[in-house]
Amino acid sequence: MATYDYDIGIIGGGAAGLTVASGAAQLGAKTLLVEKEAVLGGDCLHFGCVPSKTLIKTAEVYHQMKHVARFGLPPVDVPPVDFKAVAERIQSVISIIQKHDSQERFCGLGAQVEFGDPQFTDKHAVRLNGKTYSAKNWVISTGSSPSLPPIKGLDRTPFVTNREIFSLDQLPESMIILGGGPIGTEMSQAFCRLGTKVTVVNRGDQILGKEDKDMAAAVLEVLKSEGVIFHLDSTIEEVKDLGNRKEVIIKDKTGRISHLNAEVILVALGRAANVKGLGLESIGVEIGSRGIVVDNRLRTSQKHIFAAGDVNGGYQFTHAAGYEGGIVVSNAIFRLPRKASYTYLPWCTYSQPELASIGMNEKTATAAGIEYSVWSEAFKDNDRSLAEDEPVGKVKMLLDKKEKPIGIQILGPHAGDLISEWVAVLNGKVKLATLAGAIHPYPTIAEINKRVAGSFFATKIFSEKVQKGLKFFFNLKGRACTLEE
Ligand SMILES: Cc1cc2nc3c(=O)[nH]c(=O)nc-3n(C[C@H](O)[C@H](O)[C@H](O)COP(=O)(O)OP(=O)(O)OC[C@H]3O[C@@H](n4cnc5c(N)ncnc54)[C@H](O)[C@@H]3O)c2cc1C
Repeated sequence: MATYDYDIGIIGGGAAGLTVASGAAQLGAKTLLVEKEAVLGGDCLHFGCVPSKTLIKTAEVYHQMKHVARFGLPPVDVPPVDFKAVAERIQSVISIIQKHDSQERFCGLGAQVEFGDPQFTDKHAVRLNGKTYSAKNWVISTGSSPSLPPIKGLDRTPFVTNREIFSLDQLPESMIILGGGPIGTEMSQAFCRLGTKVTVVNRGDQILGKEDKDMAAAVLEVLKSEGVIFHLDSTIEEVKDLGNRKEVIIKDKTGRISHLNAEVILVALGRAANVKGLGLESIGVEIGSRGIVVDNRLRTSQKHIFAAGDVNGGYQFTHAAGYEGGIVVSNAIFRLPRKASYTYLPWCTYSQPELASIGMNEKTATAAGIEYSVWSEAFKDNDRSLAEDEPVGKVKMLLDKKEKPIGIQILGPHAGDLISEWVAVLNGKVKLATLAGAIHPYPTIAEINKRVAGSFFATKIFSEKVQKGLKFFFNLKGRACTLEE
């Protein structure tokens, strides 16, 4: 039988790779983790979730400072933002979390960490820093990078991506964001709130293309009201470097050409899997248009090599990468054939209000030919939302024809946290009646979850049929008061 240096080798120390490394090492597998950057943590920690959410919070506080009068407070003169200080705060948050993702911590768990650019030399071995490392199983978890489509002039025009945007020297006076997906949307609001004149160009006719139109349109309205300019249904024809300013030439659906210009261009046009330079083609690992091709156990075309996280082109979220890391540990270490299932994968766009989702929305239910009914509850009717001055948005609950919840979307304050109750309800197959009947503390924003579940039962309980039955059995006398028309 062939012998290998390690039970498992992992390439890429981000959300997926660190989950596998920690699980495998703690289970007693001899584990190697290889990372090409100088530190562990991946995109989420260094250029993604952590810096973006830290920036969003800073922008929210600054926005509140400018609008204190809404809270009955005396208006204040707010000085302009020093982006260097903002970037320092971002870095300080990253460095606190970095300790959790340190080489020492992983060594303590039992995993050997090596830094460098590995390349497969055969199906079980990589060459790294002049040495060969072999492992029985491998995991590719190299993540993704900003996708750079072949736009005319982009290769000759300076632009920034998520890798540079959080460490700018100063706040740009103006910015054109290419792409109205989650990254473009979050950044448009954050920079606009900090004082940058922001314009977003989006090819589709709605931002946040995966979401239902009504929910995405409500986010758009909020951003527009705060000053973000949108060009929807528009294609990017060319970008040009004008020295201190950059030009973006766009064409709308009527064929009209517009010339936009700004100090900075932020490219947020999707993600491309990091598959280059690993020698995957030479060992027969199939790569598709979205990334490494995997089966539902996350095995590549070489069954002892797994691909987890952004690199397999599936759901590109940190929690999806972590979940997939767990699936790999089951399959590769426990040898338990465990399949990945994304039916109840939640996600959230951290605009303000946030837009969170789990299960099916109207778009996906319609595409799947599923009959559904929609139940909703507005935040303007939630007492705590009013106290917090957060009245925008609603919860939308989809029930199938058996009246079971199949999906929830929440647009509103703390939607990313509110969706967690639905994570438990849907995964635990909790009955809607249990949620509707459970006591929630008052006044909380989360009461809205109980209310939307209750709205479904209210139509049944307070129906004419029930009223008639009660009158008949208990001799109820009916209305004591009726409003005049
Ligand atoms: C601006 C932005 C905001 C985001 N916000 C959120 C959010 O709020 N919530 C959320 O869930 N997700 C968010 N994401 C997505 C999230 O960051 C990714 O889904 C997540 O990082 C994917 O984890 P991963 O392990 O697949 O890849 P990564 O975390 O990127 O890890 C991949 C690692 O592999 C390394 N690597 C790459 N190539 C090689 C190589 N050849 N050899 C060795 N190592 C290599 C990389 O250096 C990196 O450390 C955001 C992304 C961006 C860009």
